[in-house]
Amino acid sequence: MRVLVAGGAGYIGSVVTAALLAAGHDVTVLDDLSTGHADAVPAGATLARVALHDSAPVLAEVRPEAVLHFAARSLVGVSQQRPHEYWDTNVGGSLALLEAMRAVGCRRIVFSSTAATYGEPESVPIREEAPTRPTNTYGASKLAVDHMLTSYAVAHGFAAVSLRYFNVAGAAFGLGERHATETHLIPLALQVAAGERESLTVFGRDYPTPDGTCIRDYVHVQDLADAHLLALPAPAEGEHRIYNLGNGTGFSVQEVVDAAREVTGHALPTVDGGRRAGDPAQLVASSARIRSDLGWMPRHTDLVGIVRDAWALVDPAAAHRS
Ligand code: UDP
Repeated sequence: MRVLVAGGAGYIGSVVTAALLAAGHDVTVLDDLSTGHADAVPAGATLARVALHDSAPVLAEVRPEAVLHFAARSLVGVSQQRPHEYWDTNVGGSLALLEAMRAVGCRRIVFSSTAATYGEPESVPIREEAPTRPTNTYGASKLAVDHMLTSYAVAHGFAAVSLRYFNVAGAAFGLGERHATETHLIPLALQVAAGERESLTVFGRDYPTPDGTCIRDYVHVQDLADAHLLALPAPAEGEHRIYNLGNGTGFSVQEVVDAAREVTGHALPTVDGGRRAGDPAQLVASSARIRSDLGWMPRHTDLVGIVRDAWALVDPAAAHRS
């Protein structure tokens, strides 16, 4: 299939681009490189350095049969301080992309949504029927696009899937997490092990969880890529499906620290910080819907394995030692 990957120079978009190429698809990446990296775009894909707002001429030229849409701003804290950037890129940019699709008769799309659309859960594991009450602008902007897709499916016959990611981690196809501003737990822990920072701050040890630290659902980026390939052909025209993507098991911050110590052999000093504003105690997905509808099965569910795959890119020599 001829596909356009918006945001294909970022962490998840580049991994999925590699998976699409491996499956024989013809891929054009559309990315303004505001946070992505040109050298992350796998060889074999064509890069158009263009923002979502200006995507129409690229779609007119490529005439894709489907779009996978990863392009977004994704820092929760910044979304609270500078909301206009999130509404402009995530919502305005997505609207421009959908309109560019409509103009060329392309109606198939897989969209990167997020667990942040649910906000503080009433119960875990979180199912897709759970109320969506985002607690930050980032989550609200992603939820707005989910609603946009529902209305485009109804009004314009779009065949759409929103994949609600939980905590994506690990590496695949030689591609891993590489953010200029890193906020995620696993890459930060590995930066300490690599000697790039002195210690890791644990945000809160007084949560109502067994060891007092927050519990999250870390899903391997390779499993996530598999889900995109299954989702792409799944919906009929006029249908918008929503699927959670998680490992199904929660791991605490302390368990992540322990796994990073085991994988890296580094003492990994930690500092106890206070709670980070807006962090729910537990976020764990029920991925039962995508498992039963599409036969998706996460294969890399072991936390140590996820951390090891991420570490192999930070310290390539480590992959040979382990
Ligand atoms: N966390 C932490 N120290 C850090 C970064 C994150 O203790 O330096 C915690 C954070 O409070 C959360 C978990 O690790 O409970 C995962 O955070 P991350 O930012 O990786 O993902 P999020 O769940 O916020 O999307």
